[in-house]
Amino acid sequence: MEFHSDATIECACGLPMFPVSRAGADVRYECANRHVRVIPAPADPALRRAIANWIDKRSQQIEEQHRRWERDE
Ligand SMILES: [Zn+2]
Repeated sequence: MEFHSDATIECACGLPMFPVSRAGADVRYECANRHVRVIPAPADPALRRAIANWIDKRSQQIEEQHRRWERDE
């Protein structure tokens, strides 16, 4: 598995894939085309930190979206 320095990887479709959640020792990646890959988390501490940051950012975005939907109702 080839990780970029920001912990993203390249999808088979050519788009970057971003870490979206953790599943035990694995990380779930998604690209903008909703392709999904589940791969083992890297051992490199810098990559692991970068992955944790992506996942944090993602969950904050989802929370913000939910708040917006609640306001709109
Ligand atoms: Zn893709």
